[in-house]
Amino acid sequence: MQIKDAIVTDHRFPNAFSAELLLLDHGRGCRLTDAAGKSYLDLGAGIAVNALGYGRGDLADVAAAQMRKLVHVSNLYTTGPALELAGKLTGDRFAAVQYMNSGAEANESAVKFARMYAHRGASGGAGAGRHKILTFTGAFHGRTYGALACTPTPKYQEPFGPMLPGVEVAPYNDVDALRAKLDGSFAGVIVEVVQGEGGLAAMTPEFAAALNAACAEHDVILIADEVQTGLGRCGRLFASDGVGLKPDIVTLAKPLAGGLPLSAVLLPAAVNDRLHFGEHGTTFGGGPVTCALASHVFDILTDAAFLAAVRERGEQLRQGLESLRGKHGLGPVVGAGMLRGVHVPGTVHVPDGGAGPAGEQPRIQALSNALRAGGVLVLRSGDDVMRLAPPLVISADELVEGLRRIDAALSGL
Ligand code: PLP
Repeated sequence: MQIKDAIVTDHRFPNAFSAELLLLDHGRGCRLTDAAGKSYLDLGAGIAVNALGYGRGDLADVAAAQMRKLVHVSNLYTTGPALELAGKLTGDRFAAVQYMNSGAEANESAVKFARMYAHRGASGGAGAGRHKILTFTGAFHGRTYGALACTPTPKYQEPFGPMLPGVEVAPYNDVDALRAKLDGSFAGVIVEVVQGEGGLAAMTPEFAAALNAACAEHDVILIADEVQTGLGRCGRLFASDGVGLKPDIVTLAKPLAGGLPLSAVLLPAAVNDRLHFGEHGTTFGGGPVTCALASHVFDILTDAAFLAAVRERGEQLRQGLESLRGKHGLGPVVGAGMLRGVHVPGTVHVPDGGAGPAGEQPRIQALSNALRAGGVLVLRSGDDVMRLAPPLVISADELVEGLRRIDAALSGL
């Protein structure tokens, strides 16, 4: 391993990792500091996880207090924090919550539950044949086999085939294709409200209405993957509510436990009533530390004033990206709430000595490199989208600063 200016090379992580990794040390608010002491404005929040920002004493206190009491009990038993969080997450809309550890596991579980429901008495034909799952172009649902099968991007699937059988793909936001495809041979439909990894396409209200109607007509379980969009990221507890999507099952993860791994599958009574003892489970999911943190985080993220501020900042972000688009000839602005981006098409010539390797480079790549070198961290989505998913606590001034620095980086390419 080698470290120079907080850039690690020759590390012992698998080749699926970047050959060069930034070595981060600590953070406060929306700023991170690397191992060489350089500061970064973070507009990515650890891939939409760190909604409350860094260096939070309240999160540290909640976790430490719970760790002193009890760290793990398994799902043979339960704890106060797990029970309390279950009440908050299910509210008056859901009957039960299955805790898991990651977004992929939550989606994996949701697909299992949809098939179980179909086998055990969905109207219009229960039985072994009724098992198909519908997913959409551009979707990302995770990297375990069930979730991966629902992630129809060749780069992710091809090295690992064959996939789970019975998964079919339809074009996203295409109402006619959906109506033509969905029938009683399907157990479930899994869909994102904003395609977080696939280019930030946002669901249209027409598509949401068509999904509601088609799933109701064929008694197919509608799964909203809100791993990235849920818990305030789009200005509401569930982004589904913003477009009128009425899912049977909702999966949540990223910001749920303040940066520790916890995911949740919210289940309706119709599914839960058909599930039998011991048929699904997890050793670590729903442990007392992650649940205590999530309970605390949930109260903050669902506060009406907090969500109103997220919607306001989201609109500021949209307007800022629109003006960058006009000034620098970028592609469309995409996304919703505080999960926004802009297409950065084309290539640029990066001279010797510039950030990253010299030569012709996709403009999006050169932009991310230049931003990182200048102390701003952004994400990418799809082929050419610069994705911004800052901590939800970012201030209006910090957002102005971020947009100004992106503007300067684009001018310098
Ligand atoms: N679903 C969506 C919408 C995601 O954005 C992600 C991760 O980016 C996942 C599922 C997978 O989550 P995890 O990486 O926690 O397994």
